[in-house]
Amino acid sequence: MRDPRYDILFEPVQIGPVRTKNRFYVVPHATAMGMTALEEMIAFRKARAEGGWGVVCLEETMIHETSDHAPLPDPRMYHDKYIEPLSRVVSAVKEYGALAGVELAHAGASGPAIYHREHPLSPSTKYPHYFYNPIAARSIDRQDILDFRRWYRDAAIRAKKAGFDIIYVYCAHNLSLLQDFLDSGVNKRTDEYGGVFENRVRLLHETLSDVKDAVGDTCAVAVRFAVEERRRASSITALEDGRRVVEALADVPDLWDVNVSDWAWDSGSSRFFDEGQQEPFIDFVKKVTSKPVVGVGRFTSPDAMVSQIKRGVLDLIGAARPSISDPFLPNKINEGRQDDIRECIGCNACTAEVMTSSRIRCTQNPSAGEEHVSGWHPENVPAAHDPDASILVVGGGPAGLEAAHTLAKRGYQVSIADAGKEWGGRLVRERRLPRLSAWGRVVDYRVGQLQTMPNVNMYLDSPLGADDVGGFEADHVIVATGAKWRGGGVGRHHDEPIPGHDLPHVLTPEDILDDRLPKSGSVVVYDEDYYYMAAVVADRLAKAGCKVTYVTTASDPSPWTHNTLEMVHVINSMNEAGISIVVGTSIVSISEDSVRVNRLLDGADSEIAADAVVLVTGQVSEEGLYHQLVEKREAGLIRSVERIGDCLGAGQIAQATYDGRKAGMRFGTTTE
Ligand code: ADP
Ligand code: SF4
Repeated sequence: MRDPRYDILFEPVQIGPVRTKNRFYVVPHATAMGMTALEEMIAFRKARAEGGWGVVCLEETMIHETSDHAPLPDPRMYHDKYIEPLSRVVSAVKEYGALAGVELAHAGASGPAIYHREHPLSPSTKYPHYFYNPIAARSIDRQDILDFRRWYRDAAIRAKKAGFDIIYVYCAHNLSLLQDFLDSGVNKRTDEYGGVFENRVRLLHETLSDVKDAVGDTCAVAVRFAVEERRRASSITALEDGRRVVEALADVPDLWDVNVSDWAWDSGSSRFFDEGQQEPFIDFVKKVTSKPVVGVGRFTSPDAMVSQIKRGVLDLIGAARPSISDPFLPNKINEGRQDDIRECIGCNACTAEVMTSSRIRCTQNPSAGEEHVSGWHPENVPAAHDPDASILVVGGGPAGLEAAHTLAKRGYQVSIADAGKEWGGRLVRERRLPRLSAWGRVVDYRVGQLQTMPNVNMYLDSPLGADDVGGFEADHVIVATGAKWRGGGVGRHHDEPIPGHDLPHVLTPEDILDDRLPKSGSVVVYDEDYYYMAAVVADRLAKAGCKVTYVTTASDPSPWTHNTLEMVHVINSMNEAGISIVVGTSIVSISEDSVRVNRLLDGADSEIAADAVVLVTGQVSEEGLYHQLVEKREAGLIRSVERIGDCLGAGQIAQATYDGRKAGMRFGTTTE
């Protein structure tokens, strides 16, 4: 039963001519599905509506060929042929009583227009931000402006025909022609659309008015507006033009969907941003407009949501990542099951898949993006083919815990054992590293669920050998024994160990994870892993008083974090911590007080003083037990065995939870 304290979250909100059933609002967010993965998109959005969200929006939907984000696959609304396919998304969402929204957008100079070979558009000549496309966005003339307004109107009419209830005008994320017009740094026009604020806001005002005239009788018209551009100096700040826009257009849209810009600040990862981090920027909006306001904050706690509403910050609780991580968050609160919420950990594995133009995925919720492809539901699992069948899971990290949870939900008899004294595998130690504590939710959610299930036996402090495993007489064994950071320096660049790797002052992340830190002094942290570990180790050592030099063969520090929107914050935090950054450089050899490095571009060698070196060059699977068990299976001593997660191949936690879900879902359907 619902806790009455949360009743306020289930109140309807009037947005122009439409009314929500509650205050839970899935804001537009990318999925990398677009028109080419329509069935996937329908199933993905439908799952959120089924889980109780009152509004479910579609991401940036392009109004014209000049706004083409290829290779990112965005939905499109610039031709009548798109009405029918997108109406199927609307129907799926409405089946559960949610309103359907669509974020109509023109990307301006940020749309590289690679696919259509059109010239990108900008208020003044500008090069596109993305993909290094060597084509200048052309400055648009007065006829173009009239055309742009017509494209928006026509797209809005199509969206209305498709059945959308809320139709957006997009001015956010530094990805919008309208934001470019507002920004005095970009807009250098001398006509009535450039110069003073009243001119720069003109096109946004006209576009909103056009869309309202075209569809406002039955559809709500929303504006997605970034009140502050945080990546670079800009006229758009919450104290200046951001506020003036809200004042000037206060009651023009039916809904203000407000955030900060660009995406790396809006979807700030938990390593660098707390929940609710946007409040100081957006909290003025409700004081200026009489229209409802929605905003995001990676909110997963109903108490934090209630507080936002009671304190007059928001009317609707916007969510992208919390709805990816738990599509059933509203229903769980409604049923008094808030302890069952699968809380987003803020890792941004979801943005990484978008940035790489692959299908969305989620660390916490392996069903995200798999609703259609694999037929996985966020909550429901197929019943066990035989509830007496027993499974032993060896290893209680993300992969093993997810496999055990899926199998237990299906109704099997599950035993899970781990050698350690705590559940969590790699996360036992990683969650204690600087900035990674929120990642521990991967463990807490699964252990919390497993501990309540009568068909689960959990054994800590239980290192199992192949003979112990045989003693369980399980029908199936899942080996999820993880991986260890390797020494030696073999990695992406080095096929052979680095000379000097065996000196006592040469460490691996295993040492740092076990708190075997170098004594203060000069430390070189060498990164060929390319994700978070080297930067986190550098941070940990800088905090411990070391003088740290971060060296990588990549051309950027922590290059995978470009995809998790973290790279800019990684660099800023390294700079703040006084960590020197050396890119495009390999370690050639290590001696007692220095490392010899080689600059890859020109082959120049030099020395960096180092009292200690940490080699972060990758992990190797702990697969010994698995191979022993395969032999036992071949000898007919155990029935079946498989390996998953880092034991199969070390990678992101999102891969481990995916592997765990897959193993859990397919047991009983295959012979392996
Ligand atoms: P993944 O990310 O794939 O889940 P982790 O490294 O996080 O992998 O977790 C692996 C877990 O397996 C660790 O907690 C480790 O203690 C445990 N483990 C490894 N070998 C054994 C074993 N032989 N018996 C029991 N537990 C084991
Ligand atoms: Fe949250 Fe990470 Fe899932 Fe994205 S991938 S929704 S950040 S848990």
